[in-house]
Amino acid sequence: MTSKDEEVTWDLKALFPSINDPSIEKAISEAKSSADSFERNYRGKIGSINADGLLRCFRELEDFDVKAGDIELFASLSFSANMTQPDVQALYDKVSKLEAQLGKQLAFFSLELGALVKTKPEMIADPVLASYRHMLERVQRRVPHQLSEVEEQVIIEKDQFGVQAWEELQSKWLNTRTFEVTVLGKKKSLSYGEANGLLPHPDRATRESANRSIYGLLGKDGEIFASALRSICNDWVTVSKRRKYSSPMESSLISNDTQEAIVENLLGAMNQNAGLYRHYLKLKAKLMNLPVLGNQDIAAPLPGSPPLKFTFTEAQANVVLAYTRFDTQYATAVKEMFSKRRIDVPPRFGKRNGAFCASWYRGKSAFVLDNFNGALTDVYTLAHELGHATQDYYVSRSQTIMNTAIPSIVAETASIFGELLLTDLLLDEAKSDEERKAVLSLVLDEAGMTAFQVTARVWFEQALYRSIEQDEFLDYATISRHWTEARDRIFGDSIMWLPEMEAEWTMKPHYFMANYRFYNYPYVYAQMFVYSLYERYLEEGKAFVPKLVNALSAGSSVSPLEIGKIVGLNVADPNFWKGGLKVFERFIIDLEMLT
Ligand SMILES: [Zn+2]
Repeated sequence: MTSKDEEVTWDLKALFPSINDPSIEKAISEAKSSADSFERNYRGKIGSINADGLLRCFRELEDFDVKAGDIELFASLSFSANMTQPDVQALYDKVSKLEAQLGKQLAFFSLELGALVKTKPEMIADPVLASYRHMLERVQRRVPHQLSEVEEQVIIEKDQFGVQAWEELQSKWLNTRTFEVTVLGKKKSLSYGEANGLLPHPDRATRESANRSIYGLLGKDGEIFASALRSICNDWVTVSKRRKYSSPMESSLISNDTQEAIVENLLGAMNQNAGLYRHYLKLKAKLMNLPVLGNQDIAAPLPGSPPLKFTFTEAQANVVLAYTRFDTQYATAVKEMFSKRRIDVPPRFGKRNGAFCASWYRGKSAFVLDNFNGALTDVYTLAHELGHATQDYYVSRSQTIMNTAIPSIVAETASIFGELLLTDLLLDEAKSDEERKAVLSLVLDEAGMTAFQVTARVWFEQALYRSIEQDEFLDYATISRHWTEARDRIFGDSIMWLPEMEAEWTMKPHYFMANYRFYNYPYVYAQMFVYSLYERYLEEGKAFVPKLVNALSAGSSVSPLEIGKIVGLNVADPNFWKGGLKVFERFIIDLEMLT
């Protein structure tokens, strides 16, 4: 990294001049009085409101959301960039409390709106409310599962020290253990984060040692994790019954605005085509000079691959070019993110790990937090996050803020598409076959993980609920059996598993999060949906550009099914998912031709 790269930090002045500026206090008291006046105007009154009144109510709430959004965004971005600075911490704490307080104060809105939609469903189709129609349809789908205000409050209160505590226990366990790993022949005692960071190490023995150490230690306390997961799943079954969900997955289907049949078709397609992924893993074994891959090799880099290193300036140039080659106008958001200093690039002490993109509705833009280290994966991260910024750019120009509640299954459309545009560019510009191989294997590793491995995790979660239904006791051995069975349906004979890997499920934080069941299939959906879009783009060329822009601009004003139709795709067709799998297959063929 050059010294110039280190200066690429974001400029939050467009939100507020500085962390101690009096305008923040002023904005906070304005937000509070807007919430007070909204409550005065509407509490207890939504049930008897007409369509014009409801429209005014939505607009008033949206005005409030946009303004409050600026304060919340400024506080959370400042905190993510500088978590150790006392005045930043103080502001973040203050704004978090304000958010919770305003949330509580305005909670009546969604309950009363639910009741209104239930008693007067004809309001949904009222032309006055046309742009909120789909939002109201989503409310209508949630209503039958809503409990009374008191019951909802009791659930929140019992979860806080009940089911939510399991998540804390799981992460505390991970963060208080020491792992003995042999790194390049030397024994080391490491934290979970450090040991985990060695899983893709270039040295095979180091990878094996890290795997054995992490999962061996987790497995020793397997019964503790089994107690946690068993309780979480049983709690969910109880709550689901009380909420009258027809299955443990229904809540997730509702929030993703999709249908069970669509998800089952998707999982079926992944099941039928698992052979593609196995074929890739066998090819990777050949490239690694191994008779068969061990599980420690799945995410390993290819031996002897060229050290692809990028300065931030080079990464920027590549990403801008990748987007511009698709379409000059489409690249506008990406270019603006750089020119308006909306990206915070260098890793530093006190800054949050990883990367994210936070939309800024009022600014019709976004902010990206990055931790750029110069690796090829970092260039992909940049292309990904700037895809989110592109989606924010289009949505904020076409939709009011209530229509920006985009479900996960389509929220990754522009980001994954951006990664594919980058792949295209990198393959075209690679200087050697070795470079091409490195790019392709990275792409296939990532896609294999997101699409195929995550499918196994959906099956695992489904198996847990089937077990409970059949009165099977979920102890460590039973849960681990469900895990390995689901895993083997995807991997077949393509991987030799270390025996410690039966405990792999114990380290996935999602399974231990309260009320977050079936978080997984949206990843598979998103990946395969965007691969299908990409296939469409290759077929249609430039004619595809406006369709993609329209799909991105729709936000949550229509369902994911309708978004598919905008680009000419029917996700309800059982054969639909084959299109995305074709793209995956082509990457494998390309890699095969280089070997
Ligand atoms: Zn993303």
